[in-house]
Amino acid sequence: MGRTWLGHTVLLLFVTVPLLATAYAMYTLWARMIGWTELSLFFALYLLTGVGITIGYHRMLTHRSFESSNVIRAIFLMLGSMAMQGKAIDWAANHLKHHAHADEEGDPHSPLEGLFHAHVGWLFTAPPADRERYAKKLMQDRLIVFFDQTFLLWVAVGLIIPFMIAGWHGLLWGGLVRIAVVNHVTWAVNSVCHRFGDRPFAIKDESRNNLLIGLLAFGEGWHHNHHAFPAMAYHGMNWRQFDLSAMILRMLAKLRLIWNVKMPSPDLVERRRKKKEQEQRGEASADPIPGD
Ligand SMILES: [Zn+2]
Ligand SMILES: [Zn+2]
Repeated sequence: MGRTWLGHTVLLLFVTVPLLATAYAMYTLWARMIGWTELSLFFALYLLTGVGITIGYHRMLTHRSFESSNVIRAIFLMLGSMAMQGKAIDWAANHLKHHAHADEEGDPHSPLEGLFHAHVGWLFTAPPADRERYAKKLMQDRLIVFFDQTFLLWVAVGLIIPFMIAGWHGLLWGGLVRIAVVNHVTWAVNSVCHRFGDRPFAIKDESRNNLLIGLLAFGEGWHHNHHAFPAMAYHGMNWRQFDLSAMILRMLAKLRLIWNVKMPSPDLVERRRKKKEQEQRGEASADPIPGD
């Protein structure tokens, strides 16, 4: 004979109630350690210092994907410095060296030398990129030099603000935890996005497009697109490639706060894509693409 509806209900309660209670216990444990203030500080500063890196240090400073006023440039350079990934000019020099030698001898962080090396090990072993050689133009820009020289001040600001708002727990979540997460997400662009993902264009390095890093790193995970067209301001190249940094830049362009936003010609994009398809079919490409 089958179980009655009462029997079913009792069984269901036996299974679900302890589970729900466990979830509630975990919630109370979590709530004792972190409140809404700390969570808000973490997410707000993750967003602000994250775009400081993706828009400020990377697309604006290093690749000059757009132009802007000194006020907007100062805001992004300040936010980028607060992320604690190094002085502006050092960051740009290292990154330009990476583009110049991507996955070859001289690349500061290629995963061909191991995923751990590409992620964080390179910071300890790769020689610092020569600022004179890779970032000479940036050293002639007074605003950039100012933020480069006052780097530690902005790191301190990024720690003091959450401390002032929420004390030691604010410093922990809005400062140190936030720095750890933003750093690892940025480093994942160097490690994960040169190992796992798609490569739709005909270029000679190991860069990949990776959805997860695209989401976490505000569009920087479309790293293969970026290597194919380094000056391009919008790394996500269609609606499926979510790029938060590009959304912010599009808004700033609409408000006329940034201008001369760089994009590759559709013709060049199409030719690089076609060349890749030809390579995959094993055909040799007849006409070389200018810029290769
Ligand atoms: Zn790369
Ligand atoms: Zn780049």
